[in-house]
Amino acid sequence: MVLAVRTDDGEEHPAHAVLAAIGAAPRTALAENSGLALVDRADGGGIAVDESLRTSDPDIYAAGDVAAAHHPLLHTRLRVEHWANALNGGPAAARAMLGQRVSYDRVPYFFSDQYDLGMEYSGWAPPGSYDQVVARGDVGKREFIAFWLKEGRVLAGMNVNVWDVTEPIQALIRSRTAVDAEALADPSVPLESLI
Ligand SMILES: Cc1cc2nc3c(=O)[nH]c(=O)nc-3n(C[C@H](O)[C@H](O)[C@H](O)COP(=O)(O)OP(=O)(O)OC[C@H]3O[C@@H](n4cnc5c(N)ncnc54)[C@H](O)[C@@H]3O)c2cc1C
Repeated sequence: MVLAVRTDDGEEHPAHAVLAAIGAAPRTALAENSGLALVDRADGGGIAVDESLRTSDPDIYAAGDVAAAHHPLLHTRLRVEHWANALNGGPAAARAMLGQRVSYDRVPYFFSDQYDLGMEYSGWAPPGSYDQVVARGDVGKREFIAFWLKEGRVLAGMNVNVWDVTEPIQALIRSRTAVDAEALADPSVPLESLI
């Protein structure tokens, strides 16, 4: 039975239940024992793969949560722990295995539904990578799109209780063109017109 949580500063917080969000680690023992190159835990962990999802062994590919892939659009190595990446990475790896030229450059994406709050996030905007956040819509009513920008360019967008905007948000991210923040914040300006 839980009565309280004691934090590092010595304070006690009464609690009836505790949620321990301890994260998840990729299961890489099989790859490690096979001699495949891995990515350091401090850098996100996972099996190191190139943009065609090929591991350090040219006959072995990895996709989904476990793969830390070089992302050709974002110019960084990324391990995406989301459903859409698992869905699309497998077929991409299969195409590469069949000898097709593959550059797996899908914009990272996830969806989540929390009770009456539905959201989709596209892009990659870790802390320190952006210098502006722009909201379009009504944040108070919880119907809006938030954009993370760097020097006017959209790095990521999250639509909250607003639907059918993933395509233009991802097109904005791909375009890498600087956009006018006022127009971006104005719901009467079609997103497509900013690309
Ligand atoms: C609680 C929870 C909620 C989530 N919610 C969302 C969400 O809202 N939106 C979203 O986009 N994503 C969500 N995700 C993430 C999404 O579920 C994962 O990104 C996706 O399932 C990853 O698929 P995968 O095939 O790469 O890996 P997995 O689904 O983990 O499949 C890997 C399989 O490999 C097996 N395996 C591992 N090691 C070995 C071995 N040595 N030999 C044989 N088999 C092995 C495992 O048992 C497992 O069956 C959620 C995940 C969790 C855990």
